[in-house]
Amino acid sequence: TAVARVSVVTGGNKGIGFEVCRQLASGGITVVLTARDETRGGDAVERLNALGLSQVVFHRLEITEASSAAALAGFLKTRFGKLDILVNNAAVGGVEYGQELDANEEKFDGLDFHQRVEWMLKNAREPIDSAKNSVQTNYYGTKRVTEALLPLLRSSPDGRIVNVSSSYGLLRHIGSEEVRQELNDVDGLTEERLDELLEKFMEDFESGALEPHGWPGKFSAYKVAKAAMNAYSRILARRHPELRVNCAHPGFVKTDMSMGSGVLTPEEGARSLVKVALLPDGGPTGAYFAQGEEAPF
Ligand code: NDP
Repeated sequence: TAVARVSVVTGGNKGIGFEVCRQLASGGITVVLTARDETRGGDAVERLNALGLSQVVFHRLEITEASSAAALAGFLKTRFGKLDILVNNAAVGGVEYGQELDANEEKFDGLDFHQRVEWMLKNAREPIDSAKNSVQTNYYGTKRVTEALLPLLRSSPDGRIVNVSSSYGLLRHIGSEEVRQELNDVDGLTEERLDELLEKFMEDFESGALEPHGWPGKFSAYKVAKAAMNAYSRILARRHPELRVNCAHPGFVKTDMSMGSGVLTPEEGARSLVKVALLPDGGPTGAYFAQGEEAPF
């Protein structure tokens, strides 16, 4: 009998990540549900085990800590000797909504998609610390975890990486033609150049010069970090043709990150990510998927 495939999901304790864990496990895949907080992660694993999904195990992972990613790699090597699927789901929104507001679906009853997006845009503030954290988590954290787990993925006969992206990471949100072209130049772009672009972005953020330099206004760090993550995915896909490395946008989903304002359930959002994770052998790599369908970056 075939040995079950082994997957890792980051930020698996809640939201879309939790549902990705549930769906992968329901498909007979071994799932290492990771979370930065032991209690929240352990509780999530217990909930899945209670559904009869006994092949879900916990390991701690704070994606911004290199030592945490290395510890996870060590655990995988000892326990399973391999990794087949990595879903880089963990991320932060990079904005704040004020103390009186909490994630609450009811307050969006009767509002359509555009009104919900409007609400987010109107209420989100982007303090510098949140912006920095968003770049550090969503881009550098994702990259660090990927690098730590890459040797294991490369030894799988069918290694896959799904980087959970967002329509906010699409190139059309970058006003600067030059930056857009650089990010889209998959053959010429390097990781060093990506670092330089992100440094330039943070400098412009700090000096209040985002818009004159063609960076996005609202949700700027989130958009730029996801765009950088997309570009990095394409670099990786080119460098490692033996892997399938893709980006996937789950749609606008009701979770804590969206303050409960999305239009899809986490179950629906996760469905399309799992679809990309389980594409047949020899499928696309270096591609972007929006709600399960391939689309331009
Ligand atoms: P949630 O806020 O519900 O969940 C985010 C998860 O990431 C949590 O488990 C959180 O852990 C974890 N996380 C955050 N920072 C770290 C870190 N440094 N180390 C480890 N784990 C971390 O968000 P969603 O479920 O909505 O988001 C999941 C993914 O989907 C993200 O990549 C997001 O960008 C993407 N996405 C979401 C959309 C939406 O409409 N919701 C739209 C487009 C994309 P903790 O509980 O400890 O905070």
